[in-house]
Amino acid sequence: EAKTQRGSQYNFYNEETNADAMHRLNLESDLRRALRKNEFEMYYQPRVAIGTGATVGMEALIRWRHPTRGLVSPKEFIPVAEECGLIVPIGYWVIQQACEDMRSFDESGHDSLDIAINLSFKQLQDNMFVDTATRIIEQSGVDASRLEFELTETAIMSNYQQTYEGMMALSKLGITFSLDDFGTGFSSFAHIQRLPISALKVDRSFVRNVVKNNDDGIIVKAMINLAHSLRLQVIAEGVETLDQVQFLWQNHCDQVQGFYFSPAVSAADFNLMIDQGATAAI
Ligand code: C2E
Ligand code: MG
Ligand code: MG
Ligand code: MG
Repeated sequence: EAKTQRGSQYNFYNEETNADAMHRLNLESDLRRALRKNEFEMYYQPRVAIGTGATVGMEALIRWRHPTRGLVSPKEFIPVAEECGLIVPIGYWVIQQACEDMRSFDESGHDSLDIAINLSFKQLQDNMFVDTATRIIEQSGVDASRLEFELTETAIMSNYQQTYEGMMALSKLGITFSLDDFGTGFSSFAHIQRLPISALKVDRSFVRNVVKNNDDGIIVKAMINLAHSLRLQVIAEGVETLDQVQFLWQNHCDQVQGFYFSPAVSAADFNLMIDQGATAAI
């Protein structure tokens, strides 16, 4: 009896992995075509300064306009792109597009907005990354100090030495760094302190119940205090309600980002939105 059960479990598991492998293979060749045919789009989510309600910058979030499937989420294709190495060329496209969009925001009169770009651990592990990213940024003519790279704790800890060197080289250009999804990974504070990081992004999972759950409230307060003691800015992700904004404001969080203000939207919509001052309504 037990043996049959184990046997069937094994088969079930095996079928799952085969299906996953097929899916990944299809996705991989689809992604190559997407890159060639320019099917990716950058969306932007405002970052709001909590004190003034002003939009001070944005996070660049990739989308895939798939010819038959519509808009595909990065949660589906970024892990596959990381696994097959396509994240490196996709990542260059992201930097290039974000720089181009920054110039067009500037031309529309919104000329002091910063753009934060997500970096995968695989990108910094590429030996050409620092040089190539530098060249893209320099050729685009944007002020590198208005660019920020978001890295997760996991990304940093997966290859600390190479990440450290890459971050140091890029920070010489004026690029700043933030720690994304803070609280969900394991990082050594000794390491964090040695890295050129200027902000912590409190993960959405803590923000979600910050008002409803006393423990999460305590954790978020502690994160904010910790960040400030290390002279880092704090950005809360996934802010969806006024209650959360008020809690974060009362506890001296610096910036907020989330559906309460706006989801990520196309560059054209972002421009319209800030023209109308739509995110300033705290
Ligand atoms: P992330 O960097 O932590 O980005 C935040 C995610 O939360 C985004 O999902 C954003 O749309 C979503 N979000 C923002 N506000 C709210 C909110 O109030 N409520 C909820 N429920 N969600 C909110 P998205 O755009 O699907 O991106 C998912 C992840 O994919 C990102 O997580 C990031 O790790 C990765 N990613 C996105 N774009 C890129 C990229 O250009 N390069 C790389 N390497 N990774 C990217
Ligand atoms: Mg991010
Ligand atoms: Mg800066
Ligand atoms: Mg995040």
